[in-house]
Amino acid sequence: GERRPTNLNELADEYLKLAYHGMRAQDPDFQVRLCTQFDDELKPVTLAPQDMGRVLLNLYNNAFYAVRQKQRQIPKMVAGTGEEAESDYQPIVWVSTQQVNGYFELRVKDNGTGIPEEIISKIYQPFFTTKPTGQGTGLGLSLSYDIVTKGHGGEMALESEVGAGSTFTVKIPG
Ligand code: ADP
Ligand code: MG
Repeated sequence: GERRPTNLNELADEYLKLAYHGMRAQDPDFQVRLCTQFDDELKPVTLAPQDMGRVLLNLYNNAFYAVRQKQRQIPKMVAGTGEEAESDYQPIVWVSTQQVNGYFELRVKDNGTGIPEEIISKIYQPFFTTKPTGQGTGLGLSLSYDIVTKGHGGEMALESEVGAGSTFTVKIPG
């Protein structure tokens, strides 16, 4: 796509709403707390807004899926005790932007299922998915990785812990 100076905060917020409403339309019971921390001082970033929008949408959808998945797992874990206890799990997705010397950083963090170590090396491979048929194509992260690295000369990084959640960081030079 064509690159132009873009307000990354607005783009990130716009696609967050889009992803959230999309998820709610699919699953009206879906609940998540959204925490955003957008750097007010952020200068316009030269990027392809539609391409970066696809990256955002994919990261958000993955984060929402992960918190929903975790929420669904909890009642099962409680069932093991033979009790019908209320879970105090609160699904949260954090989105932040930051300008660090020489590059822009966008972070999407969730307190969802997390990613097992043996899977981390595969998640950027095209068609790799752990989702049931019809729920994931396995193309989201491979496409996102190409858009960020080849399309924008940037980097993607991931930190994850099973049971605790995941953080995807996108860095774009600017
Ligand atoms: P898809 O979402 O269609 O499965 P992706 O390329 O977006 O394909 O993601 C590949 C896989 O990476 C997912 O199936 C999932 O196993 C894992 N994954 C990606 N993001 C997250 C996340 N935020 N939390 C847990 N697992 C994730
Ligand atoms: Mg995906």
